[in-house]
Amino acid sequence: MKLSTLACDIAESPTFALNEEARLLKERGEAVINLGIGEPKNKTPIAAVLSSAAKLTSGEVKYTPPDGLPSMKKAVIRYTEENYNRLVAPENVIITNGAKQSLFNILYSILNPQDEVIMIAPYWVSYTEMIKMCMGTPVIVTPEDGTFTPNFAEIERAVTSSTRAIIVNSPNNPSGAIYPPELIEKIVNLCEKKGIFMICDDIYHKLTFDRNVAVPAYHFTKKDVENSHVIVVNGVAKLYGMTGFRIGWVVGPRDLVKVMTNVLAQTTSCVSPVAQAAAEGALNGMQSVVEALRLQIQNNRDVVLQEMKTFNGARLIPPAGTFYALPDLRAFNNNSVEVSRFLLKKAMVVTVPGKEFGMEGHIRISFAGSVKDVTEGIARIKWALDPTSPNEIYIGDKKMIRDWM
Ligand code: PMP
Repeated sequence: MKLSTLACDIAESPTFALNEEARLLKERGEAVINLGIGEPKNKTPIAAVLSSAAKLTSGEVKYTPPDGLPSMKKAVIRYTEENYNRLVAPENVIITNGAKQSLFNILYSILNPQDEVIMIAPYWVSYTEMIKMCMGTPVIVTPEDGTFTPNFAEIERAVTSSTRAIIVNSPNNPSGAIYPPELIEKIVNLCEKKGIFMICDDIYHKLTFDRNVAVPAYHFTKKDVENSHVIVVNGVAKLYGMTGFRIGWVVGPRDLVKVMTNVLAQTTSCVSPVAQAAAEGALNGMQSVVEALRLQIQNNRDVVLQEMKTFNGARLIPPAGTFYALPDLRAFNNNSVEVSRFLLKKAMVVTVPGKEFGMEGHIRISFAGSVKDVTEGIARIKWALDPTSPNEIYIGDKKMIRDWM
């Protein structure tokens, strides 16, 4: 069968592939623990349920304007004013099918073939594939000091005459790092000086721990949204645990939003009004749901830190936000794909190999689930890898003995 070379070159989503593998194992009755997918376990906020139910019962479920329902855009405008201290117009906002579509449509709307996009390792898996789908070239900056935060000179050095954008994801998936405000300020200035876009993937912006805050890029520019090179991507998937509703949005210059609207209109027409109504409910409803989720996740993060203390050989930079930890397991094996496979086979724990995020030798652990899963999952990982951990463990109701060391 002859298919598109460009499309065939796009990698499978490792997180979805692993999720499916975990589902099948569970279906077979295996006591699998999924620390792979980034998905909070909370129930949909009640305000979102009521609002989408009202839309459904109205029986008026039709196409919406391609850039989004005016009432949903209004909710985003209010959100932007409250959280970013920016007053934007409806023409600066577009509602998309998840933040994923936001990012894809931005890249499709700004890139010409061979244009370069800078991304910082570790990075979210989909950026490279989306850039390739838009015929651009991903340029990866890897912090030389072994941390998850680059220094500014490393980013500046990567800029060429072909650079069109820098993607900044802070708090960061997969490391949980939050970039310091001084770095964000320097990237904003660099982008404005060079006329390149700063794409801020802010999907985790309120999931921060202790006293850490992710200072928005808008804070460092006096330019209005129209003239600024800052583009903000956000959504309800992570902060409200509404992954299945598929709602994201972009705030940016109206010329960009106009082109993105045409792209969206010609590909998916619009976003389902039922899902938009749900997101509108979440944004306009009680914001204590976000804080409740943040506290639960922070508690899980504390459990991870506690459990990792007795994991001899593993090194972890404590996550400051998100619900991911990216321990360095090079003391056991440099090949993270092998480590993840081994953990699934021996310990029935799903993790994601760091290689997928440009950080070989590490594995990503999602702690978005229950405390029980997080505690038991890490105990199993320790049992499988660390020879100083107890030799016996229960996996489900089976007593397992470590016999490979
Ligand atoms: N950006 C990052 C960094 C993410 O981790 C994710 C989800 N895993 C997304 C964007 C996409 O979010 P959505 O579910 O809204 O498409």
